Amino acid sequence: MKLQGLNGRLEHNFPLKKLSTWRIGGLAETVFWPQNEEDLVKVWLEAKGEGIPIRFFGRGSNILFPNEFLPGITIITTQLNQTHWDEQQVKVGAGISLAALAREAAQRGLTGLEFGAGIPGTVGGAIVMNAGAHGGSIEDVLAKVKIMTMAGEIKVLEKEDLEFGYRKCSLRDQALILEGVFQLGKGDRESIKQTMSEYLSKRKASQPLEYPNAGSVFRNPPGDSAGRLIEKAGWKGKKYGDAQVSEKHANFIVNLGNATACQVRSLIEDIQKDVQEKYGVELKPEVCIVKPE
Ligand SMILES: Cc1cc2nc3c(=O)[nH]c(=O)nc-3n(C[C@H](O)[C@H](O)[C@H](O)COP(=O)(O)OP(=O)(O)OC[C@H]3O[C@@H](n4cnc5c(N)ncnc54)[C@H](O)[C@@H]3O)c2cc1C
Repeated sequence: MKLQGLNGRLEHNFPLKKLSTWRIGGLAETVFWPQNEEDLVKVWLEAKGEGIPIRFFGRGSNILFPNEFLPGITIITTQLNQTHWDEQQVKVGAGISLAALAREAAQRGLTGLEFGAGIPGTVGGAIVMNAGAHGGSIEDVLAKVKIMTMAGEIKVLEKEDLEFGYRKCSLRDQALILEGVFQLGKGDRESIKQTMSEYLSKRKASQPLEYPNAGSVFRNPPGDSAGRLIEKAGWKGKKYGDAQVSEKHANFIVNLGNATACQVRSLIEDIQKDVQEKYGVELKPEVCIVKPE
């Protein structure tokens, strides 16, 4: 496939670990950071037409990449980063950082995105994951999305066209989000900033942010906490190579240096098996595991 005349960075044999907050992953055959949706659609349709595997990611804060070579094209959305404010509404490209958007909203005295303080993903990743914290989530503030379908068509959907649940959205694996429109409310700048700073302090106190990680590894089962069950089952601090169940928060697996995807996958599987055996609870991964081809 000829990748010529495109705007945006293009790399071959690029280390996936640089694209993931876990700092894990082997080489990707081709990585493309599109700067506009036209180039994105062009590459998507060409790759599909030629049967070349193509995948898309944001800031890689909820991803386990394989250590094996990843063939085909890996699209990273972080250059789709335009922002347009119109009073209490903001239209943003999918590649904007949610945390940065939340900071900008606070600076403008707009409320609604406080929960995004410290969530390291992009707006696109946050929409498909229905990211949230402290009782708030994307679905509370999202008004519209612009997407590219798997057939390469561009569509605008209203929030009512989508279904959301706990860390899930009907668009997941069905479309690439290009833009989101958020409806915020007027608030008091200082109290918004105060709330966000409290949220950040809570994160620093409870999460192992000093090591590469991908946030919560498992979804919380209904009415319970994955971290509580994993800790109770005795997994806190356990290591497979450099992959360790965090000593600070048992639902985080940290990379102590050279953890591999295989070590993390084995920890995930063994924790699932053990918690199922001991408590009859099925833990489902929240992180997206990219399988080697
Ligand atoms: C320290 C830390 C704390 C975290 N805290 C929270 C938290 O409090 N709450 C929470 O919900 N999450 C949290 N996360 C997880 C993560 O930040 C979110 O899930 C985030 O929304 C993922 O966005 P991303 O851009 O990094 O997506 P990626 O990890 O790059 O991708 C995740 C999935 O989304 C898909 N995707 C990415 N971009 C798009 C797009 N534009 N269109 C369609 N699909 C797309 C990918 O294909 C993949 O399946 C945390 C992570 C870390 C590392």
